Amino acid sequence: MAKEKIIRTLAKDTVRKIGEKVKLQGWADTIRDHGKITFIDLRDRSAIVQCVGSKLPKITKESVVEIIGKVVNRPEKLVNKDLSTGTVEIKIDSLKVLSPAKEIPLPLDGDGLEIEESVRLKYRYLDLRRGRMNKNLRLRSKTTQFIRNWLTARDFVEIETPILTKTTPEGARDFIVPSRLQPGKFYALPQSPQQYKQLLMVAGFERYFQIARCFRDEDPRADRAYGEFTQLDLEMSFVKQEEILFLTEKLFTELVKEIFPHKKITKSPWPRISHKDAMKKYGVDKPDLRKNKKDKDELAFAWIVDFPLFVKQTKDDFFHGAGAKYAPSHHMFTAPHPDDIGLLDKAPMKVRGLQHDMVLNGHEVGGGSIRIHQPKIQNKIFELIGFTEKQKKQFEHMLTAFSYGVPPHGGIAPGIDRLLMVILGEPSLREVMAFPMTAGGSTAVMDAPSNPAKEQLKELGIKISKK
Ligand code: ASP
Repeated sequence: MAKEKIIRTLAKDTVRKIGEKVKLQGWADTIRDHGKITFIDLRDRSAIVQCVGSKLPKITKESVVEIIGKVVNRPEKLVNKDLSTGTVEIKIDSLKVLSPAKEIPLPLDGDGLEIEESVRLKYRYLDLRRGRMNKNLRLRSKTTQFIRNWLTARDFVEIETPILTKTTPEGARDFIVPSRLQPGKFYALPQSPQQYKQLLMVAGFERYFQIARCFRDEDPRADRAYGEFTQLDLEMSFVKQEEILFLTEKLFTELVKEIFPHKKITKSPWPRISHKDAMKKYGVDKPDLRKNKKDKDELAFAWIVDFPLFVKQTKDDFFHGAGAKYAPSHHMFTAPHPDDIGLLDKAPMKVRGLQHDMVLNGHEVGGGSIRIHQPKIQNKIFELIGFTEKQKKQFEHMLTAFSYGVPPHGGIAPGIDRLLMVILGEPSLREVMAFPMTAGGSTAVMDAPSNPAKEQLKELGIKISKK
C-alpha cells in the first residue's frame, strides 16, 4: 500500500481537528523532558501548540521539526488559557528533525529589551523569532497594506521613484554612490522623493503615493534612525492645505480603528495649533497632548501649522549658501503664506510657511506643505537661502518643469517607523524595523559598510586617503 500522505496543518488549526491525525512543521519553542514523557511546544507562523510523546529522539530548542500525531482534547484542568491552542495537545506518533539548532546565543522568550542591542542585531534573524518582534513586523505589514488599499480606493497612484539620484535635500547630509560609467561623478541617495513627487504633479497624476525609503546621513537618536527609514510619501494637485490635513487625519483615524482597535484617540478632530501658540503654551513644536501620560493606549494626535518659513541658518546646514542668514524651516519647496509674500523682501523671518506637522504623543510623526509652484518665488527662496549660481543650477530642472504648466500642489510624508514606534509604545525605531543599523552605522547581521576590493576602486577611479 502506498504510504499515507498528510498535508501540513498549521498549529492554529489543530483546535478544529480533534481526533484527526495531523502533520505539523515548525520550531521546537520549548522542550520539557520529564524522563518517561516529553513535552514539546511547536511554534509555526500561526501559533504554538503543545505536543507530547515518549521515547522521542533527543532534540535541541529552536530546531526545526516535523511532528505527526493525533489531536486530542486536554482534560479541563490542564487547559492553558494563554495559548490559542490551549484546549488541545498532539499525541506524537513520529518526530523528525528537519534541521537541528545549535545553542541559541540570546534568550528568545520575553521582550528582549534587556539584551545588549549589538547581540540582538548580529543575530537579528533569531531576535525576530521573538513573539514581540514578530508581532511588530506583522502589524507593520498590516499598516502599509491598509494604507495602500485606502489610498488606491481614493484614486491615488502608487509610483516608485529612483534611489540612485541627485541630491534631494531635507536638511541632512547625503549618502553618495560613485558612478562607474562616469568616473569621478556620484549619485546621491534621496533624503526623500520630494522633487520626484512634485514632478509627478507636473506629469498630471494629481494623486500620488509611495511607501518610500529615505536616506539621511545624520546622527541617530532613539526616534531617528541612522541611514534609512520609511515614509508614506504623498502628494496631491489642486488642493488646499485643509484638504491634505483632512485626508491624512481620516486615513490615520481609520487605520487606528482597524489595526489598533484597543487604542484610543484623545481628541477628534485633531487639535490644530499654530507654531507660535505651541511654543508659547508648551515650549515645544511637538507637544504631548495625552490626558494621561501613563496610559499606554492613548494616542494624542495634533496638527501644528503656521510655522515660520525660515529659521536662522547654522553651520550645520549642509547644502545652503555659506554665510546666508536663512534656512528653510521645512524645505526649500514650501510655499510662503499668501498674505506674507510682501514680507519676503522686508522681513523674511516674519514670513509664515504653508507647512503642517503631524504630531503624536510628543513626537513629530510627519510633515508636509503646500509647495511653491511659481518659478519666480522659488528663485527668491533660493536667493534668500544663499544659493550660489552653481547651487541654483542643481535645481534648474524644477524651474524648467514648472515652466510647462504645473498645478498648484502639496502633500505630506508621515514616517512609518516613527508612527509605529509611538503607537506600539516601543522605546526605539529599531523595534519596528526588520534589519536596522546599529547606532554606529553598521548594518544588522551583515556588518556593512565594508572595504571594497582594490579592483572596484580602480574601476571607479577612487583612491582612499588616510584621514
Ligand atoms: N519631503 C518632506 C519630508 O521628507 C515631506 C513633504 O514635504 O511632503 O519631510
